[in-house]
Order: sequence, then C-alpha cells, then structure tokens
Amino acid sequence: MSRTLLIVKPDAVERNLIGYIVGRLERAGFKIVEMRMLTLDETKARSFYAVHEGKPFLNDLVKFMTSGPVVLMALEKENAVEDLRTLIGATDPAKAACGTIRQEIALNIEKNSVHASDSDDNATKEIAHFF
Ligand code: GDP
Repeated sequence: MSRTLLIVKPDAVERNLIGYIVGRLERAGFKIVEMRMLTLDETKARSFYAVHEGKPFLNDLVKFMTSGPVVLMALEKENAVEDLRTLIGATDPAKAACGTIRQEIALNIEKNSVHASDSDDNATKEIAHFF
C-alpha cells in the first residue's frame, strides 16, 4: 500500500463537484485516509508550489488556489501515485485522455479541478505539508 495527496481545487468546489470526484476515487479503489476542507492562505499555497518558483504562471496559480475553499485528501491504494495520475489525466484538459477526471470536468490548464502528487517522495512531503 502507498499514499498520495489529492486536492480538489477551488474551481471544482465552486461547481459542486466534490461528490463526483470522491465517487471516482472510491470506485477506482482509493481509500480516503485523511480529508479536510479549508481555504489556503498565500504562504501555504506558495510553499506548496515552491517547485514552480520563477515560472510565469506561478502568481496566477497562487491567486487561483487561494480564491476559495479546497478539499485535501490523503489516499491509500497499491501503486497510489501512478494510478491517481492516470485517473486524473494530463495537466491540460485538452490533452487529457478520454474518461479521465480532468478531461471530464477541468476548465483549462490552470483551473484543472484536481492536484495529485507526482512521485512517492513528493506524496510523503505533500501529505506532511497538510496533515
Ligand atoms: P500537475 O502536476 O499536472 O498539476 O502540473 P504541474 O505540476 O506542471 O503544474 C501545477 C499546476 O500549475 C497545474 O495543475 C495547473 O493548475 C498550473 N499550471 C501548469 N501549467 C500551467 C500553464 O502553462 N499555465 C497556467 N496558467 N497554469 C499552469
């Protein structure tokens, strides 16, 4: 068993899509082991996205991620990180595979509805960042 972090981003909370996302996760075999709703402050959002320091989209991304509540979840499953990345699809919904969460509900490359850790190391760090 391994763990990964999922964030329901503000665009999905705003459109009442928390239940849709939880349903997709549970049907795919993920166990929700921690779950919390909150509005990120700028410090927390910037430190979470520190890896993107210097990228042109960082300021907009921080503004978006602090614009409303998010739902944080630690998820458990065999091969959790890779399976969740497959389930959510590519960063840009226009390029996301058919049937992935982002292809179905994301609005654009920024407002792409969900975050998922991209490696086991980052999953451990990201879960510790919030729980
Ligand atoms: P992820 O791991 O698939 O979430 O993608 P990244 O780690 O590359 O980017 C983090 C987040 O930054 C994405 O989920 C988007 O919300 C946002 N983002 C990534 N690339 C772009 C971009 O080119 N433009 C904008 N506006 N936002 C982006």
